[in-house]
Amino acid sequence: MDFGESEELAALRDLIARFLEREVPPEMATKWDSEDLVPRTMIKRLAELGLTMLTVPEEHGGMGRDVVSLITAIQLLAQRSPALAGLLIMNACYGSLNIAESGSEEQKERFLPGLCAGDILFAYGLSEPDVGADIGSVQTRAEIRDGKVVINGYKRWCSGGAFADYIFMLVRSGDPDARYKNLSVLLVPPNTPGITITAIPTLGVHGLPTNDVILEDVEIPLTNLLGGEEMWNRGWEQMAGPGLEVEKLETPALALGVAEAAVEEAWQYAQDRKQFGKPICAQQSIRHTLAEAQTKLQACRLMLQSAAWKVQQGLPSAVDTSMAKLFISDSAVEIVLDCQRVMGAYGYAQGFAMERYVRDVLVMPIWGGSSAIQKNNIANFLKLPKA
Ligand SMILES: Cc1cc2nc3c(=O)[nH]c(=O)nc-3n(C[C@H](O)[C@H](O)[C@H](O)COP(=O)(O)OP(=O)(O)OC[C@H]3O[C@@H](n4cnc5c(N)ncnc54)[C@H](O)[C@@H]3O)c2cc1C
Repeated sequence: MDFGESEELAALRDLIARFLEREVPPEMATKWDSEDLVPRTMIKRLAELGLTMLTVPEEHGGMGRDVVSLITAIQLLAQRSPALAGLLIMNACYGSLNIAESGSEEQKERFLPGLCAGDILFAYGLSEPDVGADIGSVQTRAEIRDGKVVINGYKRWCSGGAFADYIFMLVRSGDPDARYKNLSVLLVPPNTPGITITAIPTLGVHGLPTNDVILEDVEIPLTNLLGGEEMWNRGWEQMAGPGLEVEKLETPALALGVAEAAVEEAWQYAQDRKQFGKPICAQQSIRHTLAEAQTKLQACRLMLQSAAWKVQQGLPSAVDTSMAKLFISDSAVEIVLDCQRVMGAYGYAQGFAMERYVRDVLVMPIWGGSSAIQKNNIANFLKLPKA
């Protein structure tokens, strides 16, 4: 067993650290948060660093499928801005990973070079007003008419949908009672006539606004059915493929990045802030809080790296990825709230990044498969009897 970091991963850390220092100062992350928009052009900068190549097969100009590097990159970018890390997810995960895994040959040729170059972003259109955890119950309908796919329905929480090039959309393409057997995945350009997009204000992860997407008689070509015509009504197979294991690690990587940033800020603040004639880090309660936070961070890092490594190796990893999603998201909330308390009133005020970390971290146990859903998964995967 080797817990050492490879030279490639160390080089990636160094590359991203230098990029953030040079091009994304903390004030920029604060600006994206207050304006609720990360410039889309940042994905081109991430492409220049090679990060958009991490999930593109070599024959399409990429570097294969490097899950460990991808998850590490998301974690490191999220330390500065989860919205920036979100752009990488929209490109390398929602786009390249899914197209490489489930796209037709024609779709791979059409999309992968542009994704690799950082020219294309995908948003996710799974959730609906009445569909959250139970995504197999989507109600947005699609039918084939005159050689086109016609879509009617309502998607909710489509993050980045307003500036994405395509929405990766799960639709019901047959009898509603057939549940998982009548779903398809469509690649829908958000500027198609019949689509209305409106922003939903949220507490955190500003910079990557989330949206309602209403679809009224929206027509797209059949060539935008993921995997080609033979995958009509077979969308669930695509959703539950190996890409799901990577997807379950995206949120813990974001959560860990935010928690690491919070610990760094509280660690420094505790040394700078003096009360009763000495820095507050001399007080046992503060020392213990920060020592516990560092310990939890280390547990989260090991869990994330081990799960990503298993996915990379193609080993069974459904339990590991669910455990990572559950433990790291919940731990990140605890860590950030503890760090906020270390900073007293200043952790609640604008001017320090802490109040943003608090707003950003709270969504981690909710999206990407909630903590309760992961607990269900873990008990089921480990075959805990229900009766
Ligand atoms: C800021 C933000 C951005 C988002 N971005 C996207 C996006 O880009 N694309 C997208 O498709 N979706 C997105 N989502 C939606 C997100 O994935 C959903 O919120 C999530 O799937 C949970 O759905 P829900 O909120 O409707 O909760 P519900 O499914 O209604 O669940 C409510 C509560 O009940 C619990 N619960 C539900 N079912 C069970 C069960 N079987 N067992 C135990 N407990 C259960 C849940 O854990 C939760 O606590 C986003 C959400 C937010 C807040």
